[in-house]
Amino acid sequence: MRRPLVVANWKMNGNLADNRKLLQSFLASWQGVHHAEVGICPPAVYLPQAIELLGQTNVELGAQDVSAAENGAFTGEVSAAMLADIGCQFALVGHSERREYHAESDQLVARKFKAAQSHKLTPILCIGESLQQREAGETLMVVGEQLKAVIDEVGRAAIASSVIAYEPVWAIGTGLTATPEQAQEVHAFIREQLGAVGNSVRILYGGSVKPSNAAELFSQADIDGALVGGASLNSDDFYSICQAAE
Ligand code: PGA
Repeated sequence: MRRPLVVANWKMNGNLADNRKLLQSFLASWQGVHHAEVGICPPAVYLPQAIELLGQTNVELGAQDVSAAENGAFTGEVSAAMLADIGCQFALVGHSERREYHAESDQLVARKFKAAQSHKLTPILCIGESLQQREAGETLMVVGEQLKAVIDEVGRAAIASSVIAYEPVWAIGTGLTATPEQAQEVHAFIREQLGAVGNSVRILYGGSVKPSNAAELFSQADIDGALVGGASLNSDDFYSICQAAE
């Protein structure tokens, strides 16, 4: 039985006052014990604020990115050791915006995955195809290659203690959501690629998830939750999505 997981990716949004309002309002609704697990990824500078606000709640904390390097002369980078040190439990790796705007290759993403795991952070590995690749019928090939780079780096067994997020690039921030069937097809493919560990790994869907489509996505056999961008900036919307995962 895979526990549902919903993760908020705030991206480069927020400030001290808005973050406080957003988290306090969400936490006021999301109290007590839940079947679904919830995590929040604020911008790195606000991680300490989020730790303070989350306090003893069971909402987890993650970073939006992590360095592949251990420490040293890497100006602007934040290491896995630092994230673990301040109390993060997980880190996104290979988000499509990092791949696109920061030229992160499949191999660099694989090294970030490894760096996160070596400091006991759960990597949330983001993979997904562009619109052009989908239209060319390359979806499974692209997703398979992104996954293979990580398997080559850490081995299939290590994937067991990670989370995968399938995020079709054309559905991110566009309002276009993959249909539940389109998403399910790719999720089932990913699970199959993972072999023996496939059944226990949670595979999240990401790309314009909102209250109106969350339940239908979550009803698919291989969709175990969501990575939520835009809708996670509204506490009522994010709460509704978390509820749908229960
Ligand atoms: P979106 O972003 O929900 O705004 O489409 C998802 C993501 O990029 O993780």
